[in-house]
Parts: sequence; C-alpha cells; structure tokens
Amino acid sequence: MQYHLEGFRPGDPSVSLERAQVPAGDVDVLIVGCGPAGLTLASQLSVFSDISVRIAERKSGPLQFGQADGIACRSIEMFEAFGFAEKVIKEAYHVNEVSFWRPGSDGARLARADRIQDVEDDLSEMPHVILSQARVHDFYLDFMAKSPCRLRPDYNRELLSVRRHAEGTHPIEATFACLDQESGNETIRAKYLVGCDGARSKVRAEMGHSLKGQSARQLWGVMDVLPRTNFPDIRLKCAIQSADQGSILIIPREGGYMVRLYIELDALDEAERAADRNITSEQLIGKARAILQPYAFEVAEVAWWSAYEIGQRLCDTFDDVSAKDRGSVRPRLFIAGDACHTHSPKAGQGMNVSMADAFNLGWKLAAVLRGQAVPAVLDTYSEERRGKAKELIDFDKDMARLFSEKPKTDAEAAQFQSYFKKHGRYTAGVETRYDPSMLTGRNRHQALAEGYVVGKRFHSAPVIRLADAKPIQLGHVLKADGRWRIIAFAPRADIGEKDGPVAGFCERLSTGLLARVTPKKADIDAVIDLRVVFQQSHRALDITKLHPLLRPTKGALGLTDYEKVFCPGLGPQDIFDMRRIDREKGAVLVVRPDQYVSMVAPVSHVEDIDSFFGHICPAQLRPD
Ligand code: FAD
Repeated sequence: MQYHLEGFRPGDPSVSLERAQVPAGDVDVLIVGCGPAGLTLASQLSVFSDISVRIAERKSGPLQFGQADGIACRSIEMFEAFGFAEKVIKEAYHVNEVSFWRPGSDGARLARADRIQDVEDDLSEMPHVILSQARVHDFYLDFMAKSPCRLRPDYNRELLSVRRHAEGTHPIEATFACLDQESGNETIRAKYLVGCDGARSKVRAEMGHSLKGQSARQLWGVMDVLPRTNFPDIRLKCAIQSADQGSILIIPREGGYMVRLYIELDALDEAERAADRNITSEQLIGKARAILQPYAFEVAEVAWWSAYEIGQRLCDTFDDVSAKDRGSVRPRLFIAGDACHTHSPKAGQGMNVSMADAFNLGWKLAAVLRGQAVPAVLDTYSEERRGKAKELIDFDKDMARLFSEKPKTDAEAAQFQSYFKKHGRYTAGVETRYDPSMLTGRNRHQALAEGYVVGKRFHSAPVIRLADAKPIQLGHVLKADGRWRIIAFAPRADIGEKDGPVAGFCERLSTGLLARVTPKKADIDAVIDLRVVFQQSHRALDITKLHPLLRPTKGALGLTDYEKVFCPGLGPQDIFDMRRIDREKGAVLVVRPDQYVSMVAPVSHVEDIDSFFGHICPAQLRPD
C-alpha cells in the first residue's frame, strides 16, 4: 500500500485524504440496492472524487443474516483490489477438500465415495472460502465510508418509478418512497442508474425487461445451524445423495461450529410461491436427519433459515438499448446481479457473479464519466456479462440435474463427482473469457505469454519488487482504481538500460500514448500504469539506470514512485515459467481496470497498443 505521496499525515492510511463534495442534488450514478452487486459498484465508484454517486436501499440498515455464502477464488482476487481480501481470508472457512457420500455398495445407507482437493494447484493465489454475505457487505461498507466519496447508503428508500427523459444532462429521474417518514417521496436525477435490486427488480420492470427461462421453479431449504452430530465429515464441504430421502449439501461455516445445509425440496407448481408451502425450520431439520441416517443429527440452534425458490432465468439485455438502436443510443439504465440472472445455489455462484457484473460495469461508467473512454465502452457491459450469465445458467442446469438425480449405478454416481472436479476451474470464477471486442484484442501474439490468455483475468504469480526486495504477488498491484495496466516482461538479456528493448518501449510510450491520454498536471500513471518484470535477480539490476518512466516523479511534492519494477521470485519456478512467457522475446500485456487481459503484444509493438487505445480513448475526452 502506498501513501504519504501528498505529504505525511498521521492515522489510518486506509482513510482517503482526498474528499469529494457530498452530492446535494443531481448525481452522476444512482445505484438501487445494497446487495453484493450494488455494494461492489458503489465501492468502485466511491474511489473517484470527481464522480458523484448515491446508493439507495429499501431495507432500514445493513444485512445481518444469511443469504449467499460461497466466495470463489476470483472474487477474493477482486477483494484484494479493494484492499480487504486479508480480512475475508482470516475470518472465513476455507474449502480445501470436498467429500461425496452416497449409499455404499455393501448395503450401507451412506458411505464416503470420494474425497478430493477443492481447488487445483496454482489456479489462483487466493483460496475458495465460505463467509456470510452480510460480512462481505460490512467490508464493502467500510471501504466506501473511507473512500474519497465517504459514501454511505441511503437506507429506507424504496424505488417506485424510473423515467428516462430524451434530453438534459441528467436524463434519468427516479422516485423513491421514504420509508422512514410518515409519508413523502424523494426524486433523484442522474446521468446513469444501475438496478442492483435483486431477482424481483423494479428497475428491470421499469425498463420493460423480464427474466426468461425455466418456469419449473425449484424450492430450496437453506439453514445455518449449530449441530450436534456424529457424521464424520461435518467440517468438510459434502455432497450427499441418499438412496431414497433426497440430497443435501453441507457447507461448513466460518467460526468452526456452524454449518449451512442446502436441502433440495420439491419443484413448485406454475403459480406457486415458496411461502405457499408453509415450510418450517423443523421440517428442514427432519429432512436433513432423514438424509443423514444412520448418523445422528440434532440442532442446538438455528441461526438463520429460509425456503426460497429458484428458476434458471436470464434477461435478454442488461441495459436499456434495443438491438436496433445499439450504436446510436447510449445506454443510461443498467441492471446487474440477480436483477438480470438467477440460478440455483448449488454451484455457489449467486454472490460471485453479481459482484463480477458490477466490477465489469463500474470502471466503464467511471471512464466515460471522467472523459477517459468513449461512450461505446458502455455497450460492452451487456454484451460481455450476458454471455457469461448464459454460460452459468447452462452449467447450473447440468449441475442441478446431476445433483438431484438418484444415482442408480456406481458409474452414474461417479459422473457427478467427475463433473464437479472438471468444473472446479469454472466455479472458482477463473474461466471467464471475454470475446474479441473493442476491449479485448485478437490473440495474434498469444504464444509470447501462453499463460496470460487474452480475454481472461490476469493470473497472479510471485515476484520481488526491485527497490525494496519485497516478495509480493504481481496481481496485487492491480487495484480497483480505474486505471489500465501495461505489464511488460523483459526479454532475457535486457537489463533495462538505455537503448535496450524495455527502455525503447518506455520512451515511445511516454512520448506517444501516455502523453496523449494523461490529463495535464496529472501523474504520468494516472490513466495507464506501466509495470515491468525483468528476468535478472533483484540484486543484479541498477534502478538508477532504468528509464525515468519506471521511477516516475509524482504528486505535489515531486516524490519518486519506486514500485514499478519487479524481478522473478525465489521459488523453484518463476513467473516466466509459471505463465509461459517467451524468455527470449519477452511480452507486453495490456490489462483492463477490472483485471482482464486485453492484449498480448511484442515489446517492440508500441504502435499496436497505441492503436488499441485509439478506439477506446482517441484523445483526452470531455468528461461526461
Ligand atoms: P440482492 O442480494 O438480492 O440485493 C438486492 C437489494 O436490493 C436488496 O438489499 C433489496 O432489499 C434491495 N431492493 C430490492 N428492491 C428494491 C427497491 N424497489 N428499492 C430499493 N431497494 C430494493 N445464494 C446463494 O448462493 N446461496 C444461498 O444460500 C442463497 N440464499 C438466498 C436466500 C434468500 C432469501 C435470497 C433472497 C437469496 C439467496 N441467494 C443465495 C441468492 C444470493 O443472495 C444472490 O444471488 C445475491 O445476493 C445477488 O446479489 P444482488 O446484489 O444481485 O441482489
């Protein structure tokens, strides 16, 4: 973490010194809903002191109990970008292994069929964990409150209506009921509105969209309990398929004692709601006890429980622009998270995918509002995220079918286990790959860095920071600050000195692209942040001989930023081996603000990078 750039200040460095004006009237972005999607988006936007944002929520305060709990490796990588991954990792349950139970071939009612590693090695530097959605909300709320915008949700505000006017600087008008007052509404105007208001989204309805998909809705019972049991794997994630009592998923929870049970109940009829079934917690406990026989299962306390219905459903588009108007009309209304896709909890994706939607959208809104990207960038949100939601729903259907089927033979049972193993990468969230677009280049030079697949997230690896010899994860320099990264991997012989490939790359970058996109008076890395990894040991390089762009002078005090250059870590394999980077030629990556690799280029091809950015930010644009 870097601080003191603008002078020494005592106190907690995570509280931003920069402070934005609290918006009194119209805002740039209005967010509806304080779930994982809304809070991710609000956190992202809150780091920009020049963007005004409000987030409104119907509830009277922060979430206290329940709902989603599975946090994929990819989401923790994102939390690291917001600076609270460590807190999550410390508090959470870590899913290291998964066990599978079903009737034994010897006639046993239940027997352990398999026990496997949950996340394959080097899939991510981050673990797969379980933590209450409410705690994730707390970390986001803390981040927002300390950000330049000092953003706090407006609770007790229920969205009633949304209108898009044809003209005006703030064409969106949203009206809220103020639930903390006897009567009265509040109307807020905004440039953009994002509905993160869950599966029954009012924003979606006001946009005239609907969720489409499977109508046979599945009823689920979920409960967080403190159990007394002799079931041996109660502290492991378990998928249990009984012969005749149904299936259950056990998810151990943070803290060492509590477990979550997901119990599949019946499919609902067409017009039926979960509430119509009058499910009770006693019924859920009874069902769990029946599935877990012959093991004893008593519940000392029920912390939270719910019965909720799930359909695998998807919205046609995630913004307010029709196919015929795409390209000529700018999107102003967006939906994210459960508002545009719903699926079963079996794959543990609800919270993760919702946050990923918002992380995708947040930097794009910021870039357009700040004059750092053309408005067409906003069209890529629906295109990219709808595609991923569709993939998830297809995956979820398969997973749900295999989970619910009663395996008749050992081969059928093994199919479920093998499906689970095979798709571990997918559920870890690291398989997301965006198609070629204005933000994702074609992979002409992929061979230079095979482990950095164009369209996929930047895969971290250990390095040593040159200036202070600190071992770090390279991915952890990619903060949620809206900046693009160019990461250059130097060719073998290059030690960064004058006339070498990296020095030449730096020179052309600073006189060309960076001079074009960086606002006057801003630091040279304000829009695009260059980092370089050399192949030599950190003791063999002379930092004073490196190009000035690699030790730039920044801030009002003209201090040097020493954190731009890295060398290989000391492990048996270094980053060049781990990510299959061409040692002779090196490689350059362009990485989006949400950490996805946009292109791989040769170190000599500055003009390719320049032309890539030419479509996104042809020159400094007027802020929106
Ligand atoms: P949400 O978390 O639903 O957040 C939407 C927010 O918008 C809410 O705070 C809501 O109060 C607010 N809101 C809605 N309408 C308005 C309005 N008109 N005006 C103002 N505010 C509004 N997923 C799992 O993976 N595992 C689970 O066990 C699980 N259990 C769940 C249990 C329940 C009861 C529910 C509702 C969901 C559950 N989910 C579960 C789903 C998971 O919580 C969601 O996938 C995830 O929270 C989606 O995040 P989101 O931000 O899109 O929406």
